[in-house]
Amino acid sequence: MSFIAQRIGWIKPSATIAVSTKAAELKAQGHDVIGLGAGEPDFDTPDHIKEAAYQAIKDGKTKYTPSAGIPELRDAIQKKFKRDNNLDYDMTQITVGTGGKQILYNALMATIDAHDEVIISAPFWVSYADMTAVCGGVPVIVKCPATQGFRLTAQQLRDAITPKTKWVIMNSPSNPTGVSYSRQDYEALGAVLREKDNAHVHVMVDDMYEHIIYDGHEFVTFAQVNPDLYDRTLTINGVSKAYCMTGWRIGYAGGPQHIIKAMNNLTSQSTSSTCSIAQYAATAALNGDHSFIAIHNKAFKQRRDRVVDILNTIDGIDCLTPEGAFYVYPSCNGLIGAKTPEGHICHNDEDIVNYLLRSQGVAVVHGAAFGLSPAFRISYATSLDLLENACQRISKFVNNLS
Ligand code: PLP
Repeated sequence: MSFIAQRIGWIKPSATIAVSTKAAELKAQGHDVIGLGAGEPDFDTPDHIKEAAYQAIKDGKTKYTPSAGIPELRDAIQKKFKRDNNLDYDMTQITVGTGGKQILYNALMATIDAHDEVIISAPFWVSYADMTAVCGGVPVIVKCPATQGFRLTAQQLRDAITPKTKWVIMNSPSNPTGVSYSRQDYEALGAVLREKDNAHVHVMVDDMYEHIIYDGHEFVTFAQVNPDLYDRTLTINGVSKAYCMTGWRIGYAGGPQHIIKAMNNLTSQSTSSTCSIAQYAATAALNGDHSFIAIHNKAFKQRRDRVVDILNTIDGIDCLTPEGAFYVYPSCNGLIGAKTPEGHICHNDEDIVNYLLRSQGVAVVHGAAFGLSPAFRISYATSLDLLENACQRISKFVNNLS
């Protein structure tokens, strides 16, 4: 009998972290590898945010903080929700965690009992299903292919709900597809949750990529579009992506007081609180100048357009143009069954990304990790030169298949 808890057997290591680690290892061994696996901006944290952290250290703000987060940060979050999303949360309805990841984890841990169901549309961010599983819940995966724009439809949501459904998780713009839900999309989903048999279902909304959106698309969040479902919505966000603060580990949520209280309880018995210095930095981020976001988005959009253009010239690869985030999720259906020059058959998308890494030194993440195959995810949060080089290598890889 294993010494390791059974629940660890219900999950697997994060595929995106595994790919990034493998790419870094190969690079360290001297291989020419372009890593397109990591989901983080290549831009540095803006100086005014770093300054706030130095100042916090100098001022001795280096002690434990309240589990829910320092009042200054919760105040900044409260203002952010009002300013950007027209959502009113009082201070008792806001919590801070060690990244959006811990917020999601705490929210599930605080609410999921054995066999509770969580509806997750695929392709999904890698951690939703495993986090649900480790909490003893059942991830109910609903496949949303490119033919429906990778979006969950009202009918699919209705069909997936059972008396055991606790949450439906929404993520827009999405990791891994970059697809963004419109006001009409959210209205249609909201209408399903208003149906009389569905009053028990809550919505966990992951708005991590809120600010990374292009071509004039309007970002909306679920509770803003469906104010009558405010009491059944947990709105999750963080500073990692828009503010280039992935390593600072600050995420936050606004939602019903009883859920926030339960999450704070869990924090108080696990991490106690989030890093004090990072909280002061995040306060400066939310309250400060946001002009750099538009500059970053201009670069991201240029990269997205270039990557989508090149990928769509490659036979066997088909790529939608996403509205936001910094990922594309091309289908590689046309490559299944093809043979590499070494005689290996590409049975699935995992084979394809492995052979691509081995033969051309391009690291991307296979679609199976996100629950919808055959596809792969490219993170285009890296320089245009590297992206063009990587796409040329992908093209070469495909040309070499028979
Ligand atoms: N949600 C989504 C959709 C993400 O892509 C990520 C990070 O990749 C997170 C949540 C977690 O972000 P963090 O823990 O860095 O705040």
